[in-house]
Amino acid sequence: MREHIVAFDQGTTSSRTLLINRQGEVVDVAQRPIEQHFPHPGWVEHDPQEILATQLSTFTDILVRNGLSPHDIDSIGITNQRETTVVWDRHTGEPVCNAIVWQCRRTAPIIEELCGDPEVRERITATTGLVPDAYFSASKVKWILDNVPGARERAEAGDLLFGTIDCWLVWCLTNGAVHATDLTNASRTMLFDIHSCAWDPWLLDLFGVPASMLPEVRPSSGSYGATAHPGIAGNIPICGVAGDQQAALFGQCCFAAGEAKNTYGTGCFLLMNTGEKAVRSRNGLVTTIAASAPGSQRVEYALEGSVFMAGALIQWLKDELGIIESASDVEALATSVSDTAGVYVVPAFTGLGAPYWDADARGAIYGLTRGAGRAHIARACLDALAYQVNDLIDGMVADAGIPIKTLAVDGGASRNGYLMQFQAGLSQLEILRPANTETTAMGAAYLSGLATGFWGSVDEIRAMREVDARFAGAMTPAEREAYLKGWHDCIKRTRTS
Ligand code: ADP
Repeated sequence: MREHIVAFDQGTTSSRTLLINRQGEVVDVAQRPIEQHFPHPGWVEHDPQEILATQLSTFTDILVRNGLSPHDIDSIGITNQRETTVVWDRHTGEPVCNAIVWQCRRTAPIIEELCGDPEVRERITATTGLVPDAYFSASKVKWILDNVPGARERAEAGDLLFGTIDCWLVWCLTNGAVHATDLTNASRTMLFDIHSCAWDPWLLDLFGVPASMLPEVRPSSGSYGATAHPGIAGNIPICGVAGDQQAALFGQCCFAAGEAKNTYGTGCFLLMNTGEKAVRSRNGLVTTIAASAPGSQRVEYALEGSVFMAGALIQWLKDELGIIESASDVEALATSVSDTAGVYVVPAFTGLGAPYWDADARGAIYGLTRGAGRAHIARACLDALAYQVNDLIDGMVADAGIPIKTLAVDGGASRNGYLMQFQAGLSQLEILRPANTETTAMGAAYLSGLATGFWGSVDEIRAMREVDARFAGAMTPAEREAYLKGWHDCIKRTRTS
């Protein structure tokens, strides 16, 4: 009996391999950082060979440390930083240049040039569920073909392949046998029609991407071949693939419409499963494909929204204001006072995101009086995280017409009990914090283990989940209204348009 599943969690700053047992527990984790390349201001690159090498070496670490052989592994699930783009030669396996990372802004002028027309923007959003941006893969592929000498000719001759990081890893691990990506990653390329689930010829034409470069698109849970790379022997099946946020949604057991998760990391990522319906947002959220359990004939969708400044605001308290020594100190400081004394922090450091979309707005502190001190400001910062998430929740519920009853949480700042309690009250829902917070890796493992029969059903997976803490809303309607009125007044004063 093969008693373990392996999850590859290829993130923006590191590659990790997690060993997971039948009970859904993380037995061991190996991690290696990956180098960030900043060749020009605003540019961000990764070396695809380093990504592969660190993924392989962390896998070897796990086997050696646990006395396992590849034959002890049921299968591998892969989750990855999304949108990051690799183009490589199908004959030699050599990338034509470094991977262009999702954060990289070099292709903003391409988006401005190609997507300025409101009709084009509308067609892109209607087809892909996305708001046109340099963030997604489409303009990154175009940049590579237009700027790497000879790349366009080689692509047109059928010699080059495109893939996001999952696809690159699958191709390398199978020794070039499988060129495939999954639905969730495809839905972040801005080249994919999320309704017909096919690459869109009009978008390929707009961004000048030859169809011969594109991977086959498969369900997130199912076969992606088996390992055949010399660095990873043993023919281990690869049976789960999903982009990090969709993997986390699955790992948080949000399998049904109306189930939602929020990750409180440097930024926040809120995703809500909307079932078979691809909901078009009127509040500046994006529509994306969710990972589904195997056997489901239908595609499932999610609404996604993000907050730019979440844990980063707590880092700012530490690094710029110096009023706390570590992020975990903020809770004790914030709860050393009984309220914020009317102080509000609007963390529009890089503008206001959904649902306001005001790029020129800047951060502000309001309501300062002679008695306001560092504890009030710290508390107002934690409240600001909750207000921003609440704005996204309100938008999602309005868009989808489905209430959110329970919010599953993870990420560094979800450890903050004060914040969780305030969020539960403000958003009038129950917050569930799982004991196992490796939700992204768990999502990839579940997808793989469901495909191989390692786990029998999503119900079996739900039953394995252990809850660390639940937070129920303890706020009267009048209190809630007063808090929200104060926040929205401050937003009004901060907006530039
Ligand atoms: P990421 O994956 O985005 O790097 P993590 O999930 O590791 O982020 O979370 C780190 C973030 O969480 C940091 O920005 C930090 O400021 C914040 N953080 C960590 N602990 C706490 C805490 N107890 N209260 C509030 N914020 C916290």
